[in-house]
Amino acid sequence: MLRETIRSLAEAKIAPHAAAVDEEGRFPREALDALVASDLHAVHVPEEYGGAGADALATVIVIEEVARVCASSSLIPAVNKLGSLPVILSGSEDLKKKYLGPLAKGDAMFSYALSEPDAGSDAAGMKTKAVRDGDFWVLNGVKRWITNAGESEYYTVMAVTDPAKRSKGISAFVVEKSDEGVSFGAPEKKLGIKGSPTREVYLDNVRIPADRMIGEEGTGFATAMKTLDHTRITIAAQALGIAQGALDYAKGYVQERKQFGKPIGDFQGIQFMLADMAMKLEAARQLTYSAAAKSERLDGDLTFFGAAAKCFASDVAMEVTTDAVQLLGGYGYTRDYPVERMMRDAKITQIYEGTNQVQRIVMARNLP
Ligand SMILES: Cc1cc2nc3c(=O)[nH]c(=O)nc-3n(C[C@H](O)[C@H](O)[C@H](O)COP(=O)(O)OP(=O)(O)OC[C@H]3O[C@@H](n4cnc5c(N)ncnc54)[C@H](O)[C@@H]3O)c2cc1C
Repeated sequence: MLRETIRSLAEAKIAPHAAAVDEEGRFPREALDALVASDLHAVHVPEEYGGAGADALATVIVIEEVARVCASSSLIPAVNKLGSLPVILSGSEDLKKKYLGPLAKGDAMFSYALSEPDAGSDAAGMKTKAVRDGDFWVLNGVKRWITNAGESEYYTVMAVTDPAKRSKGISAFVVEKSDEGVSFGAPEKKLGIKGSPTREVYLDNVRIPADRMIGEEGTGFATAMKTLDHTRITIAAQALGIAQGALDYAKGYVQERKQFGKPIGDFQGIQFMLADMAMKLEAARQLTYSAAAKSERLDGDLTFFGAAAKCFASDVAMEVTTDAVQLLGGYGYTRDYPVERMMRDAKITQIYEGTNQVQRIVMARNLP
């Protein structure tokens, strides 16, 4: 039922704008409005904080179905979970009440600010600093590649509070867009997900109350990594959705397009390609759903499965979307058809929330 609901909403309210959002590189406002109106913008927020209380699998299905028509729009529910999960996992009751309510209502979005210009895969090498000043912390630094920066009201920001302790000297904070000293860089000009703003976040003597720290001092990096164990599964969901959108389109196309006097779908060479695409996609879906169940149960092997699902599903999305372009021939290479956008959008799923090289490092360290 959930899938049917979100699919019809996505097809009616989000899909019609997907090409324009990509072409114009603008935030998918229509998608945000439609998702908020149906309470699907941040389904993971627990009921006690005013949310829908969706479990990890239900959240995956929402993201998957939105990504099937518009990858940029799927970053609304995905990044709302990414940004707020540190608060849900490690925040005080007061922080949860203060920040999850507006998120659940659709009054605010939440971003996640870990990466920096010189600290990507090696996130613990970050330079952003937080220095204690009485009942306040003062933050200074630059966060890079922050999804939905400028659109979100709230930011989970990881910053160094004790440089001597490396990853154990990093703490997490909630920073608000309206805090004095917060500003944003120009939107990045990207290959894909062009409707999802990616900007730098500048923290210039941002003075915030001490109770905005998420969890204990020095636990920020652990919280950031624990968060990714869960949210890599949402990136896998996004990859599944993009691949499914491309497969669905290609499946229809090969029945219409005629060459040598018959639909190209009658050729075995084409049928075998479609069979492989569907097989890989289904394998990725099973791994992703299994990882989602592990996320919900907090199983001990979640770290391996979260990384495996993200890595496998994103590699599949890249293969399936590339094959979909191939199946449309020259037409697939143009913006008159959606598969070239899907191929460009798929690429990011191999890069963010840890590149697929990093996922393999994580898997190797956590073999089941
Ligand atoms: C569109 C977009 C949105 C993003 N959104 C967010 C966000 O909301 N919040 C956030 O905090 N970050 C975000 N990111 C950042 C993203 O997570 C990083 O780009 C990513 O982790 C890689 O870091 P890097 O770009 O610095 O690459 P680098 O770490 O410099 O990596 C370059 C290459 O080296 C490889 N490499 C690095 N180390 C190793 C190793 N030990 N072994 C093998 N290979 C290695 C990488 O796999 C990659 O191929 C976003 C990025 C993009 C592009």
